[in-house]
Amino acid sequence: MQDMPDIVIVGGGFGGVALAYCLAKGGASVTLLEAGSLGGGTSAAPAGRAQIIDSETEEYLDLVLAGYNRLEGLGEELGIDLEWTLPGHLTLISNEDQWRKFEGLVTRLQQRAIPAEMIDQAALQRAEPYLRTDGFLGAAYSHEGHLNPFKFTAGYARAACRFGAKILHHARVIGFEKSGNRITAVITERERISGRVVLLAVGAWTGELAAKAGIAFPMRYTHAEAIVSESLPRVLNHHIGMTGFYEAVHGSERSVTLGIGQHPNGTLLASNAVQKMEKVDLSSTYWGMPALCRAIRAFFPRLGGVRIVRTWAAPSPFTPDYLPAIGWLPGFDNLYVAAGFHLAIPTIPVLAEQAARSILEFEEQPLLAPYDPKRFFDSSTV
Ligand SMILES: Cc1cc2nc3c(=O)[nH]c(=O)nc-3n(C[C@H](O)[C@H](O)[C@H](O)COP(=O)(O)OP(=O)(O)OC[C@H]3O[C@@H](n4cnc5c(N)ncnc54)[C@H](O)[C@@H]3O)c2cc1C
Repeated sequence: MQDMPDIVIVGGGFGGVALAYCLAKGGASVTLLEAGSLGGGTSAAPAGRAQIIDSETEEYLDLVLAGYNRLEGLGEELGIDLEWTLPGHLTLISNEDQWRKFEGLVTRLQQRAIPAEMIDQAALQRAEPYLRTDGFLGAAYSHEGHLNPFKFTAGYARAACRFGAKILHHARVIGFEKSGNRITAVITERERISGRVVLLAVGAWTGELAAKAGIAFPMRYTHAEAIVSESLPRVLNHHIGMTGFYEAVHGSERSVTLGIGQHPNGTLLASNAVQKMEKVDLSSTYWGMPALCRAIRAFFPRLGGVRIVRTWAAPSPFTPDYLPAIGWLPGFDNLYVAAGFHLAIPTIPVLAEQAARSILEFEEQPLLAPYDPKRFFDSSTV
């Protein structure tokens, strides 16, 4: 009994490591099991944006701003340089409908004292000299930060270990032992680990793993690809994206929705080539990289000769209502889920803290109420 960790976390992406940190800091004994390498799932894919303008509702904007305000000091708290910068974001606008929609979003940010404005085509061209602005009315500028996503994972993981968390790599969970309403042990390919609470932070794999516990969790995902260029002198001043980004990312069609930014090390990171997939697949497709390269050429003709040095693919997970699922799973007394993050980087600092509190104090946190996973189950299951 003495060796039993209080909490077994399955999954070492953003969600799992941030929870490991908050729970270990709160005094819990934590063991995290990761199937591969830390941050090797979807958390290996992000651009690193801390998006604000993309918050759909006032409630979600509250959450995003609360988390965003933590990011500037997070590196110091975790003891790592997160490479936090403030490039700002330009959403390219090509028609009047989009202009009106983004005017509304910009006004909403201005009312919260977040720097944002609509800029016309001439101002857009001055802001981004390499961008071909033909066909655009202008852009919506919004304040936005950026960090190195690998360091976001590493920072949380190392800080968790400083508070005593144990992290096991290459420890794929293949099943659960149950007794009544409790998960009594988590089974990996090598061992059996008991915990008072089992927390699933397995992103796109949530459906697959929850099924092993007998729960049909409706996690969805698309297959998203990104590319990275060689290092260049400064050619982009902002992160630049298109309208309809999330509609495309969640959509069923094969599509390219270009989001591109230049990292402090000079490389350009461009995503997303998105397509529907029935099974998680981390391989790049024959069409993804060429499609992204064509999009870059169309928008930035002078960057046509830039060499691409890396490409990757990852599942882009989302729940049926696109909001995170954070809370106790129905049918069990000790099975918790934290997945389906939307605008992950700016929300995770707050969501992980609140989730840790709800687990350690066994008390519902009002801020988490809209994200209760029970909303996906009918009352007979709950
Ligand atoms: C191309 C792309 C760009 C993005 N850009 C941004 C961005 O700029 N800003 C932003 O905020 N968000 C962005 N996102 C979204 C963000 O990356 C995700 O929301 C986030 O990484 C999800 O983290 P997670 O911990 O829930 O899942 P994951 O990172 O996928 O972690 C789950 C982990 O569980 C492990 N696992 C699975 N099955 C098992 C098992 N049986 N046993 C043990 N471990 C298991 C996996 O190996 C994985 O490491 C982007 C996503 C994509 C695809």
